[in-house]
Amino acid sequence: MKHKKLGTTFKKLFLTLIVVAAMLQIVNAYVYTGYKWPWGSADWRFSTNFPDSYKQSVQNAANTWNNAGSSFRFNYQWYEVTSYVDWVDLGGNGPLGHTNIYKYPFTSSISRAVTEMNSNSAKYWTTTQSPDYPPYDFETAALHEFGHWLSLAHTSDTSTVMYDPYNGPKRSLTQDDKNGIKYIYP
Ligand SMILES: [Zn+2]
Repeated sequence: MKHKKLGTTFKKLFLTLIVVAAMLQIVNAYVYTGYKWPWGSADWRFSTNFPDSYKQSVQNAANTWNNAGSSFRFNYQWYEVTSYVDWVDLGGNGPLGHTNIYKYPFTSSISRAVTEMNSNSAKYWTTTQSPDYPPYDFETAALHEFGHWLSLAHTSDTSTVMYDPYNGPKRSLTQDDKNGIKYIYP
């Protein structure tokens, strides 16, 4: 009797642990690196050499994060600000894009961010959503890089925008991506 009771208790505990583990995985799939924009917004611009043909894709990406239900805002500026999206040759074997985050010294506050989108001719970009790739959807890549501006790192969930590498067009955020930005900027 005693053994049976103990066994049931263990079973319950074990099931509880599984449920808790599953919940944690769902809740915490996004990865927050712990840095934050002090005013809850980021002023950004394009580099002077950024191609006009891809500007709308980047604007769309910023708007998608702005509409995720958090308080954070990407504020597009036409004048000189220190955070920008650049057009740089990162090499034929380089990444589609790359983002550098700069912080104020001795704080976890972000001072500025710079995204470099790969201009190398070996990278075929498109502004239309094609399930086959290359070409790579510019808006998808910009949406991912802007996620890094928010201090979100790569996830292991292939459906999320913050998954790396590129695995097809993703122009809308998953609930997990939204949970990430809402956690940082409620
Ligand atoms: Zn990335």
